[in-house]
Amino acid sequence: MKFQDLTIQDMRQKLLAGDLSSVELTRACLERIKATDSTLNAFITVCEDESLAAAEQADQQIAAGNMGLLTGIPVAVKDIFNTLDVRTTCGSKILDNYVSPYDATAIAKLREQGAIIVGKLNMDEFAMGSSNENSAAGAVHNPWDTERVPGGSSGGSAAAVAAGQVVATLGTDTGGSVRQPASHCGVVGLKPTYGRVSRYGVVAFASSLDQVGPVAGNVEDCALMLNVVAGYDPADSTSVDCPVPDYLKNLNAGVTGKKIGLPKEYFIDGLDPEIKQAVDAAIETYRQLGAEIVEVSLPHTDYSVACYYLIAMAEASSNLARYDGVRFGKRQDPGEGLIGMYQQTRSAGFGDEVKRRIMLGTYALSSGYYDAYYLKAQKVRTLIRQDFLKVFEEVDLLLTPVAPTPAFKIGEMVDDPLQMYLSDIFTIPTNLAGTCAMSFPCGFSERGLPIGLQLIGQPFAEDEMLQAAYAFEQATDWNQRVPEV
Ligand code: GLN
Repeated sequence: MKFQDLTIQDMRQKLLAGDLSSVELTRACLERIKATDSTLNAFITVCEDESLAAAEQADQQIAAGNMGLLTGIPVAVKDIFNTLDVRTTCGSKILDNYVSPYDATAIAKLREQGAIIVGKLNMDEFAMGSSNENSAAGAVHNPWDTERVPGGSSGGSAAAVAAGQVVATLGTDTGGSVRQPASHCGVVGLKPTYGRVSRYGVVAFASSLDQVGPVAGNVEDCALMLNVVAGYDPADSTSVDCPVPDYLKNLNAGVTGKKIGLPKEYFIDGLDPEIKQAVDAAIETYRQLGAEIVEVSLPHTDYSVACYYLIAMAEASSNLARYDGVRFGKRQDPGEGLIGMYQQTRSAGFGDEVKRRIMLGTYALSSGYYDAYYLKAQKVRTLIRQDFLKVFEEVDLLLTPVAPTPAFKIGEMVDDPLQMYLSDIFTIPTNLAGTCAMSFPCGFSERGLPIGLQLIGQPFAEDEMLQAAYAFEQATDWNQRVPEV
């Protein structure tokens, strides 16, 4: 069996049985990255020496009978997570030389369970984008068609799993950045409920929307990754102190008797016919699996893109103020005085999309416009959240497409930011509402591009959502296909 065909569960079994050592596994992983990454560009940093040293330690732990959930298993993380002693660039020139003095909580949790972190993954700069083209480290190529985007902003996290470079990764999702690339790359990606996973040590984009999420090759591995990272963290005041179930435990509970809602606002005219076909077939599968399908309405859906881009940009403009070349950010040659130095540093350090968002966000927050834009957007956000809470009195889960089209060509949308923003229409509402959602494969286009299905779950009901995704995965074989890289 080839390295890239193994799941986390396969690796665990082989490690436990002594059929494979962590050093062998990590070497195979590093070789796979070497063989494929000149094509994909999924990694910004590969930690060869560190991961081999960690693998040796893992082998000792396994020999001593100390097996955590991920002991000895190579994984990788989006370059937005602070990692002790390894640089964290966030896809930006301004953080080119930044090395964090501590691990993000999610990283600490991976290490506690014995994971080997082999590297940091490419992403849109500061997680702003839907195509991974806004990265100082260059675009990532989709493993299914290297002329196409992998989606974004966690494009590296999805492409790396799809291409079998690593078995699982962590990304972040502010408006779809885990689910949309998972959909475009044919893998499983989950955005937990806001507050489920700690954001401590994750570079902030839009703090009221950001959430850490796992990407994996199948639902079970995704559930296992969520087991590792979920939970209350006193270091993140927005993390929620409520019990975390074992997501692996009742994975095969099925969907018999579950009520699944189809929000009619998500089945619109602009939807690509191949996506519609795949989603319709998935609905039929759920019916056959015993779920009851009903049409529902989320009436404020149309406002979500505008609402999101106001709130996300406002929060980003505030969060990114810290990159001034003094405490954070690679300082440029001093200009005229302190303000000149700020100007030089920020002009040279940020890319175009980040600058656009800082300007729009600053405008939306400025006195005189605050009420008209930011405050209004917050009120609309409440209406959007209420839509979801109301619909969840009636149904257990919602089913929708993830993206209106399959992966588009690199360069195709770069000059049309509005079009790019509009393509987030199906993923953004759940971030505004704070509820959980996930994407998993439900078909392929005629060109052979993966199509994802989205399930949206009630707040803190990731377990129920994973069970429904697992039932679908067991009944179909969409996740068995792998790209040739
Ligand atoms: N595509 C969205 C944006 O550009 C979402 C990004 C994200 O989830 N980080 O803001």
